[in-house]
Amino acid sequence: MARIVQKFGGTSVGSVERIIRVADRVIAEADAGHEVIVVVSAMGKTTDQLVTLANELTVSPSAREMDMLLSTGEQVTTSLLAMALQNRGMSAASITGWQAGIQTESVPGNARIVNIDTTRLEQLLASGTIAIVAGFQGISQEQDITTLGRGGSDTTAVALAAALHADRCDIYTDVPGVFTTDPRVVKDARKLQRISYDEMLELAHLGAGVLHPRAVEFAKNYQIPLTVRSSMTFEEGTRIEEEVKMENRSVVRGIAFEDQITRMTLFRMPRKEKNLSAVFSTLARHRINVDIIIQSVTSENSSNLSFSVKDSDVEEASRILEQEQERLHFEKMEAESGLAKVSIVGSGMISNPGVAAEMFDKLAQEDIDIKMVSTSEIKVSTVIEKQHMQKATQALHNCFQLGEEMPVEGVPVTHT
Ligand code: ADP
Ligand code: ASP
Ligand code: MG
Repeated sequence: MARIVQKFGGTSVGSVERIIRVADRVIAEADAGHEVIVVVSAMGKTTDQLVTLANELTVSPSAREMDMLLSTGEQVTTSLLAMALQNRGMSAASITGWQAGIQTESVPGNARIVNIDTTRLEQLLASGTIAIVAGFQGISQEQDITTLGRGGSDTTAVALAAALHADRCDIYTDVPGVFTTDPRVVKDARKLQRISYDEMLELAHLGAGVLHPRAVEFAKNYQIPLTVRSSMTFEEGTRIEEEVKMENRSVVRGIAFEDQITRMTLFRMPRKEKNLSAVFSTLARHRINVDIIIQSVTSENSSNLSFSVKDSDVEEASRILEQEQERLHFEKMEAESGLAKVSIVGSGMISNPGVAAEMFDKLAQEDIDIKMVSTSEIKVSTVIEKQHMQKATQALHNCFQLGEEMPVEGVPVTHT
C-alpha cells in the first residue's frame, strides 16, 4: 500500500462531468489499495471571476477580504468531489486548508506554509476515508484565512505530500506534462519525460505556469517524487526528480517567458557606497520585488541604475522613489513598460560556454533588441519588448532544437 497525493487543477474540475471523471481517477488509486489525499483547485475560471467581482466593488479591496473571498472557490470543488465519491460508495470527506492543519505566515495573498499539523488528516486516512483538501489556502497565526499566491494549489499538494510522508505526488492538469515550452504558444513544443528539480524550479520561477515555484521547492527539499500529467488522457506524464547525469544531454532544456515587466531607470545617481543599498532596501521594505539589476557607470562620480519590476508594482515603486529622490540624489527617473522576459534553462549550460552568445545571436538575427540580461549557472534571461515575446520563444526553440525527437532523453537524433 502506498500513500498518494493527487492534485487536480481548475480545468480538470471545471464542470460536474469533469469532477465525475476526477472521481474515477481517485477511485482507481483507492481500489488499488492506496491511501489517497486529493487536493483540488477552484472550478475553471472561478478564481478570476471572484477577483473581477471584488474589483467591480472597489479598486483597492483589503487583502484579508480577498483571501476570504478567493478561498471559497476551492471549497466548492472539495465538497462536490466528496459527493461524487460518496455517490460511488466511497468514504470521502472534504476539508478546508485550516482543517487540514496548514499554517502559514500572515502575508495575505502570498503566504508561505510554515507548518502542517497532520493530526486530522491522519485520522481521516486511518479510518479509510479519502481526504479532499481545498488547495491554495491556509490559516495564519492570527487565525485568518490566507492564500498561497495564484497557482498555489500545487504547493498545497506537495507540502502535504512532504508532511504526510507520501510515496508520490501526482499533479493532474490540462496538458500531458512539462513541455520544452508552453505548448499553447509553441506548437512543436515537446513533452519531457523527465526534468530535474533545479531546472523545473528555474522554469517555474521564470514564468512557466505549469507548476507553482514553491511546489517545486518543497519537492526538491523533501525529495518528493513529483509527476505532472493530464487529467484527460492516460499517457505517462513528466517526472520531476533529482538530476540524472548524462554525457550527451541537450544544453537547453526549456524556455520560459512572462510579460508585464517594466524597466525602471534612475539616471545620474552619485556613486556613494550606501546609495545602492538605500534604493533596494527601501523597495524591499515596501515588499516590491526587484528582478534584474544593472548599474552602468556614466562618469567617475555617477551611474545610471536600471532594474526590472512587475508592471503592477510600478506605481508604488515610482511613488516611493520620488519621495526618496532628495536622499538618493538621482537626477531623473524613467519607467519603460510593455516588456517581457524570455529565458532559456538547462543544467547542461554549466559546462557549455557560448550558450548565451548563441541566444543573443539568434535574437539579433530576428531583429529583437535585448534591453536587459541576467544569467545564472543554469539559465540566461533576456528582457525584450513584449510584442516580440512569442517570436523570440519560437526562434530560440528552433535554435536549440527543442522540438526534435529524442529517443534517449536529451540527445537529438540525427537523420542521415
Ligand atoms: P492547473 O489549473 O491544472 O493548475 P495551469 O493553467 O496552472 O493548470 O497550468 C497548466 C498550463 O501551464 C498549461 O495549460 C500551459 O498553457 C501552461 N504552461 C506554461 N509553460 C508550460 C510548460 N513548459 N509545459 C507545460 N505547460 C506549460
Ligand atoms: N485557484 C487558484 C488560482 O486560480 C489556485 C490554483 O488553482 O492553484 O490561482
Ligand atoms: Mg496551476
